Order: sequence, then C-alpha cells, then structure tokens
Amino acid sequence: MDCIFCKIAQGEIPSATLYEDEDFRVILDVNPASKGHALILPKAHASNLYELPDEAASKALVLAKKMASKMADALDCEGLNLVQNNGELAGQTVFHFHMHLIPRYKDDDVKMGWKPGKLTEETKEELLSILR
Ligand code: 5GP
Ligand code: ZN
Repeated sequence: MDCIFCKIAQGEIPSATLYEDEDFRVILDVNPASKGHALILPKAHASNLYELPDEAASKALVLAKKMASKMADALDCEGLNLVQNNGELAGQTVFHFHMHLIPRYKDDDVKMGWKPGKLTEETKEELLSILR
C-alpha cells in the first residue's frame, strides 16, 4: 500500500520525530497551524478512527496526554487543541489515522470552530432513538 504516513511512521521516510515507541511515532507537521503542531501516527496502518483497533485507540489517547503535557510545559502556549479528522468532508487529507496536537497562542492564526445551533426537542428525541 502506498501510504505516506506508513512510510514516515515506520522510518522509511525521515521526519522530525519528537517521540517514538514500538507502536507510535510523533512528528512535527510539515505545514504547521501553529508553532509546535505535531502529529501522532500509529505504526500499524488504520485509515481512520473507525478502523483503529481498540488497543491502539487507548494507547493513542494516553500518548496524546503525555505529549500535550510536555508541550504545555516546554512551549509558551496558552492552550492546545487535540484534533482528529475522519473523511474528506471532515478535513482528512491523509488516510492513515492520526491525531493533531495544536498548541495555541494568544493572537495565533488558527481557525477552528462552528456556529452553535440549537438542539430541538424533536431532533433530540430522534437522535436518542438512533444513537443510544
Ligand atoms: P489531515 O488533514 O489528514 O487531518 O492532516 C494531515 C496533516 O498531515 C496536515 O496537517 C499536513 O500538513 C500533514 N502532512 C501531510 N504530509 C506530510 C508529510 O509528508 N510530513 C509531515 N510531517 N506532515 C505531513
Ligand atoms: Zn498508512
């Protein structure tokens, strides 16, 4: 399979690696949203969150916590977003599961957000019946 993040995660393509263990590699994003923007890549290919095995999912969040704490200490950031996109419509451009760690600074140029809607009774009941 021709997957760039497989090659990076497995060290076949060099990357600015912040952390590596037998399951993951954490690298600096080549087009950072902010200073320190990093990506957590599992070494075993999964295209997205739906495909990610439970064990890798658990380890990924523990690693995200560890990296986020380190970044919060080491960088002069005032916040941090953990972002994970699934599907083109949701902004996924590389189809190998990854999590973004995006440090946030006062007056940075990171745009992330949505216009808050209003949960109606009807939609709430519909969603509870479908998703619960
Ligand atoms: P997505 O849009 O799929 O959630 O995020 C993909 C991210 O991977 C983007 O932020 C993009 O800048 C980053 N990226 C794409 N190709 C490479 C690469 O070859 N090396 C590195 N370090 N980052 C990459
Ligand atoms: Zn891959």
